[in-house]
Amino acid sequence: MTTSTAHGPGLDAELAYARRMDRIDGLGHYRARFIGTEADAPTPVVYLDGNSLGRPTRATLDRMARFVTGAWGSGLSRSWEEEWMDLPLRIGDSLGRAALGAAPGQVFVGDSTTVMLYKLARAAVDARPGRNEIVVDTDNFPTDRYVLEGIAAERGLALRWITSAPAGGVTAGQVRDVVGPRTALVLLSHVAYRSGFLADVREITRVAHDAGALVLWDLCHSAGAVPIELDLWAVDLAVGCSYKYLSGGPGSPAFGYVRDDLQNLLVQPIQGWMGAAEVFSMGPEYAPADGIRRFMSGTPAIVSMLAMQDTIAMIEEAGIEDVRAKSVALTEFAIALVDEWLTPMGVTLASPREHTHRGGHLTINHWAMREVTATLWQHDVIPDFRAPEGLRVGLSPLSTSFVETYEGVAAVRDVLRGILLARSGLVPPERGQQSGTGL
Ligand SMILES: *Cc1c(COP(=O)(O)O)cnc(C)c1O
Repeated sequence: MTTSTAHGPGLDAELAYARRMDRIDGLGHYRARFIGTEADAPTPVVYLDGNSLGRPTRATLDRMARFVTGAWGSGLSRSWEEEWMDLPLRIGDSLGRAALGAAPGQVFVGDSTTVMLYKLARAAVDARPGRNEIVVDTDNFPTDRYVLEGIAAERGLALRWITSAPAGGVTAGQVRDVVGPRTALVLLSHVAYRSGFLADVREITRVAHDAGALVLWDLCHSAGAVPIELDLWAVDLAVGCSYKYLSGGPGSPAFGYVRDDLQNLLVQPIQGWMGAAEVFSMGPEYAPADGIRRFMSGTPAIVSMLAMQDTIAMIEEAGIEDVRAKSVALTEFAIALVDEWLTPMGVTLASPREHTHRGGHLTINHWAMREVTATLWQHDVIPDFRAPEGLRVGLSPLSTSFVETYEGVAAVRDVLRGILLARSGLVPPERGQQSGTGL
């Protein structure tokens, strides 16, 4: 990429590059299938937070309307038997096929990620009696760490912390150093929520198994963006969000994976009627169902399972390998822009440079990022902020274009430049905020 001096409204080399990339992008046409992309949005939003809440699809708009009048409005309670009772398992199978490398009967859609983590982690530690440690890393997502603290207190276990590099993540070597005959469970994230570091699931799983421990992988920031091979990698348990790259909508429930041969050996702690062997016999005592159904608890959140079906179908159609190739191209482009425009202003990349170690998002650090993010939101440019000084750039492969990526990083550049100029006293704040393109 050439250095551009003209950052005004004219066409610069980076914008020309972004437009060319969009033209030759084999997945470019998927963008128009999402609500809020240029074609139908009066003020197009530059969205860099699809890794936190994915954009909705147009197909979902139709599906929701059909659902209200059809299966719900006309089918009424008959629809439980006709289609809803098995829906969490059917969606699980299609997700397993499209994005998780999981054969049927091992994935279901259930509770929130937090509750699902609790259920599977508790089941796992109970299946390793005599072992009293759970391995987790210091930079894992708060809910993952908090849930484990609770389980440790409840079961008299100790947490064994791996200190993860904030701009990197947990390596197989670090796991090898802490696991042993005391380890019951290892819980790690496939893609780190802050740095975007991509962990070596296969190798770390092997290391944990060599020590006799079970592994639970958190796939929240990888499902739908990074190819996953749960069966091939011999993973025991996994949990992931559906409202991030899977565009399930705010608060849509998580999916859980339990490997076939483990299912009937594990007992999860939220013993509800939907996970019982005979749901409608309403018997006096709980007896768990065989197979994956035993990990269910209460009435499934059917309304919240509508949207994800459209995204899962889209991912299967596009092919997860191609989705990943686009994701890598987007993050490479964003890093090139950061290097060129933002590094001279003191911004540092807090994500792996090597794409083989990186998921679908980046974090860039600067002391002014809290203010930068707040200003960008007012101008319909939406990244998110992660304390203490990180701006997270999430690039959803099916809905984000190269031009959108260009516009987002250019907006960060212009707002940051304005703030720095204002601080240096060279221009009053009002003018500083307005300098540059498009804002
Ligand atoms: C987003 C995310 C969660 C969210 O959990 P909820 O129960 O859905 O709030 C948990 N873990 C990780 C790693 C995440 O990225």
